[in-house]
Amino acid sequence: MGMKWNRRTFLGGLGATIGAAASGIRLFASSLPQSAKLSGFGGTGNVYEELGVTTVINGQGTMTMLGGSLIRPEVEAVMAQATKHFVSIPALEIAAGKKIAEMLKLPDGYTAFVSSGAAGAIQSGLAGILTRDDDSLIRQLPDLAGMKSEVIIQKSHRNPFDHQLRGTGIKLIEIETREDFKRALSPRTAMMHFSNFANATGQIKVDEWLKLSKENNIPAMIDAAADTPPVSHLWDYANMGYDLVTFSGGKAMRGPQCAGLLIGRKELIGYAALNNSPYEDTLGRGQKVGKEEIVGMVKALELYLNEDHDALTREWWKRLDTVSHEVTKVEGVSTAYFEPDIANHVPTMHIDWDPRRINLTPDEAHQSLRKGNPSIVLERTEIGLGMNSFMLQLGEDKIIADNLVKLFRAHSA
Ligand SMILES: *Cc1c(COP(=O)(O)O)cnc(C)c1O
Repeated sequence: MGMKWNRRTFLGGLGATIGAAASGIRLFASSLPQSAKLSGFGGTGNVYEELGVTTVINGQGTMTMLGGSLIRPEVEAVMAQATKHFVSIPALEIAAGKKIAEMLKLPDGYTAFVSSGAAGAIQSGLAGILTRDDDSLIRQLPDLAGMKSEVIIQKSHRNPFDHQLRGTGIKLIEIETREDFKRALSPRTAMMHFSNFANATGQIKVDEWLKLSKENNIPAMIDAAADTPPVSHLWDYANMGYDLVTFSGGKAMRGPQCAGLLIGRKELIGYAALNNSPYEDTLGRGQKVGKEEIVGMVKALELYLNEDHDALTREWWKRLDTVSHEVTKVEGVSTAYFEPDIANHVPTMHIDWDPRRINLTPDEAHQSLRKGNPSIVLERTEIGLGMNSFMLQLGEDKIIADNLVKLFRAHSA
């Protein structure tokens, strides 16, 4: 039960625990059965079809609503290894964090925690700042009596994921100008939050936000959930000096869908862990991360770091070219390429058409593709469709092209 794992043991108890477990693992492994051929559910090789749920071709990107991303076979393999043994979850989290810190060459004093996702990382990170390693405060959340109770955020940085901040009980104090910021500061201020994707829209940019946090001795968190690529973002914000940095594991990194990274100062990571599963009577007990996700995240990160990112980007452009080449053969259809500066910084394409030549609204086009066979999900824009190609599987660019051409021709004047 519960809270015996304090900060000292969390940060220092690793060696002994791992050592003790190692010999047992080898004995146990040899007696495990090989996985048998499936009968019953899963027997056809397509569980989704058996359940009557349509799978989709995903031209929209890493959407949690569509299952995020697809893990690589190597990630699947280490997750299968993880299923075969019991292990201390806190010890595994510490060891995985240490390995991730080494892989990312994080600055001294930084480590990582595999969370249930960026959203879980945001909540646990803040909870840790509020409670530190005080058992009774940890149990008390989201009742903030005796704790700081406010987080400062720029108005344009508000987004649905700040629900995870509010879930701790804190109040968000919205600011716009530097003067607002000064006025917002108070003894109640627990943290300053920065949404990385909103850097361009706020008056105070990512470097100045950090400077203000240092000057006022308030910890700063940056949410960079969808902000790889580029891969360097995985260490950039820790190197800048941000105290806590959050990433999704199940987006471009193609880690397990219910995994993410909380990167930050060791002390704060330790406090965050104390507010999370497996510890009971914690705010984060519902954000359980299994041993499978923890090792899967480590492997996904290793693969992602070793990836030829330039080749990958070229492949993503090539897929868009395939679609563009075909659809622009239809009279009245045009395409335009762009790449968002930050967040989903991947090749992206708009597909637009002349409504005088093709009698189809963006909504109708979107619905028709979604209901088609195969079902295709693209983005609906104001005047047409949008797509990216980084979650497509082999040959799906061609399928999208063919189905778009068919759709446009069917509605051509
Ligand atoms: C996706 C996303 C999150 C949530 O990430 P999960 O890994 O799905 O929990 C949080 N913040 C931003 C900006 C995101 O794009």
